[in-house]
Amino acid sequence: MVGKQMAAAALAAVAALASMAEAAPAAPAAPAAGGVRVTVTPERTSLGKSDEVAVVVTITNTSGATAYLLKWQTPFGAVEAPLFEVTRDGQPVPYLGRMVKRAPPAPDDYIALAPGASRSVRVELSALYRMDVTGAYSIRYRDGVLQLFGKPSSSYAPAHALAEPALPAASVYIAGRLPRGMAAPEPLPQGGAALGFSQCSNPQQQSVTEAFKAAQTMAQDAGAYLQGTQGPRYSGWFGAVDAARTATVARHFTAIGEAFAGKPVTVDCGCREDYYAYVYPNQPYKIHVCNAFWSAPMTGTDSKGGTLVHEMSHFTVVAGTGDWAYGHEAAAALAAGNPERAIDNADSHEYFGENTPHQDLR
Ligand SMILES: [Zn+2]
Repeated sequence: MVGKQMAAAALAAVAALASMAEAAPAAPAAPAAGGVRVTVTPERTSLGKSDEVAVVVTITNTSGATAYLLKWQTPFGAVEAPLFEVTRDGQPVPYLGRMVKRAPPAPDDYIALAPGASRSVRVELSALYRMDVTGAYSIRYRDGVLQLFGKPSSSYAPAHALAEPALPAASVYIAGRLPRGMAAPEPLPQGGAALGFSQCSNPQQQSVTEAFKAAQTMAQDAGAYLQGTQGPRYSGWFGAVDAARTATVARHFTAIGEAFAGKPVTVDCGCREDYYAYVYPNQPYKIHVCNAFWSAPMTGTDSKGGTLVHEMSHFTVVAGTGDWAYGHEAAAALAAGNPERAIDNADSHEYFGENTPHQDLR
């Protein structure tokens, strides 16, 4: 966002807060699970074609100690993750925004909330979710996204995740409208295996070509390992061995391998963000690589090849993974504590594919 837009957004947030009393009723307050309360309040509950679909998100620390939140798990900045769960007439509405690969959290990736403190922000949702169809929408903060930390840390030390189930939903009725700021999903690219480039210099194209080969090798190797009995390589990243979960992971790697081997993939080098890469999950097979990608090794932990595996897993038509935890430490903790989430986590797929330190024991 540029300064002017930011100022406008700030003003709008203030206006939204000021008008809340006369506007939509807030969703009922969530229980103070884990010491942080999240409310999602629509600016208006009935919207016409030209209205913005905006909600105000308020996060309150209801505990007696300072709470630390990871910036990218909150909307207090650019929203680059599916932080909300949106349904229309009971059916899930797809997220249209970015899915990012980030480095493990550093101390300044945390936001501190003092005991009793609240922070609010206005979020325009129709650029992030498909809300162009008439219907009754329900919007809530996605379960399990917001973790509460006792201290900022460069390692993974969550005090606890917010308790589940479920933060309450806010309801909005929207009369059909055009999506704002986000093109409708593009048709699936046709054609066979190809690696294309957008905004890449010659040296960048060479580097991406090598990374692409490394990603193909990782996907093949992972697929082959998943054919046999699962050992520590599997359980280290995906948790306790279970037939249904193993089948899901095997299906994911089959799809990832097929995409690298047989689909028209485009890598765009125009991103200048500090993170590794991002994709729009409904726009296969275009992968945007960013600053951290260029300094990553070709193979091994958090590598260029692995980053491509991570991003490929996000596409809805491939494996539709999420980003529940970033980095080796957090991904290993996720495998141990929540295997269902681990098999839906992009970094877990990347680390299984990268396989560092090397493990092939069964
Ligand atoms: Zn990701």
